[in-house]
Amino acid sequence: MSHEIFQNYINGQWVGSSAAIENINPSDTSDIVGHYAKASSEDCLAAIAAANAAFADWSKSGLEQRKQVLDFIGAELIARSAEIGEILAREEGKTRAEGVGEVYRSGQFFQYYGAEALRLMGENTQSVRPGVDVEVHREALGVVGIVTPWNFPMAVAAWKVAPALAYGNAVVLKPAELVPASAWILADIISRSGLPAGAFNLVMGSGRDVGETLCTSPDIQAVTFTGSVGVGRHIARNAIDNMARVQLEMGSKNALVVLDDADMDTAVNCALAGGYFGTGQKCTASSRIIVQSGIHDAFVEKLSAAVSKLVVGHALGEGSQIGPVVDARQLQQNLDYMQIAKDEGAELLVGGERLNLDTDGFFMSPALFVNTTNQMRINREEVFGPIACVIKVDSYEQALEVSNDSDFGLTSGIITNSLHHAGHFKRHSQSGCVMVNLPTAGTDYHVPFGGRKNSSYGPREQGSSAREFYTIVKTNYSKPY
Ligand code: NAP
Ligand code: MG
Repeated sequence: MSHEIFQNYINGQWVGSSAAIENINPSDTSDIVGHYAKASSEDCLAAIAAANAAFADWSKSGLEQRKQVLDFIGAELIARSAEIGEILAREEGKTRAEGVGEVYRSGQFFQYYGAEALRLMGENTQSVRPGVDVEVHREALGVVGIVTPWNFPMAVAAWKVAPALAYGNAVVLKPAELVPASAWILADIISRSGLPAGAFNLVMGSGRDVGETLCTSPDIQAVTFTGSVGVGRHIARNAIDNMARVQLEMGSKNALVVLDDADMDTAVNCALAGGYFGTGQKCTASSRIIVQSGIHDAFVEKLSAAVSKLVVGHALGEGSQIGPVVDARQLQQNLDYMQIAKDEGAELLVGGERLNLDTDGFFMSPALFVNTTNQMRINREEVFGPIACVIKVDSYEQALEVSNDSDFGLTSGIITNSLHHAGHFKRHSQSGCVMVNLPTAGTDYHVPFGGRKNSSYGPREQGSSAREFYTIVKTNYSKPY
């Protein structure tokens, strides 16, 4: 255990604080990942002022300089992914393999946007007025406030910070209070990347004070947020008051459809990966499994056998497949939803119990319910835990209807060998990302990511779509002769 206090990073300086955040390992509450300086609202205002001052130069920096900074950050994340991935797994509770994979992917985001910085093409066209030329440029926005959730402590920060910097913006990052270590490591790498002081700032602290100060500041030009619907809606209202741009990625209740003609192993593996990996704490998790009647009984038998064999354990344990839930509050929420589902008449096939293992952690066994209806709260509200429900349907048409009958629409999936049904589902599924014969979780970095309905608001993230949010367009007219 370290007695060092990891500090906030403001205007190129490491800044201490009188209060500290204790970062606890959810696999073993006796393991303290570290103590992190808790920023005050004043620290946040200083970070915003520093970012505004740095923006003037960074927004005019050469593209090669931006690429070098982003390449440096990406290369170090990738080179150190084993070491940093272990710390991520310790603070968040996902397995070591998932933690290492997340850090590696975060490095890829920086490398991708390093290259994207060189590809910021505009448009050149003729005016409708003869002899007049038109150019459409993209310019940096200003200071971007970035607020991230606990479930992907490095990846969400990476996919927001990398495009923000690549397109010449300055950044203030507020990570989730539960998981400051990953964001601190990112700040440490950025501090050595050659980025000018003030262009990136880290303020660790609670959403209610530091987050609120950041998102209500009239001195930021944009807010990008990933987290819950309630906080997202609140942030959007505040942003509108300041006429700041806003981008929200929120919860979901993603459906995986399994048709009668599905390959059984593909169906079971996709349901397992999408429903339970990452302890079900993914916005892209498939918590509703909509299964056609002909395959229903055989599929349920195979899936429940596979779920009961999943190894729950310490995130760093050999052979652990499912780590702990992130904290006591989330664990209690999951157990409450177990009871709600039973009270609604859902039939529990396996799991849903609090587990006492060798270390004192927030462990529960992955749960599978059958005989559920899409009207039950367990199928309408996001639980964010290792709990999935089977809904039986008679036909593809009914499966599509049930899948779309949700307040959310981030991802959806279908397991089928029918070209017709796969094609129809891709066209008619009301979600942002549609997966055919793949789990609903697991997306690439070079293509757009985002959802519909209550799952997202504003322009898409990732890929070249990110520039829609992180740049502002200017249209120039000129009469050269
Ligand atoms: P959350 O409670 O909404 O928190 C998200 C972030 O917002 C945290 O950094 C939080 O700070 C901060 N925050 C809270 N109140 C704030 C305020 N008034 N102003 C500014 N910031 C504020 O969500 P969470 O519990 O961390 O994450 C779980 C949720 O995230 C789930 O609903 C999940 O579906 C969603 N999620 C969505 C995606 C996606 O891409 N669609 C990806 C991952 C997660 P504190 O942590 O300090 O409270
Ligand atoms: Mg923690």
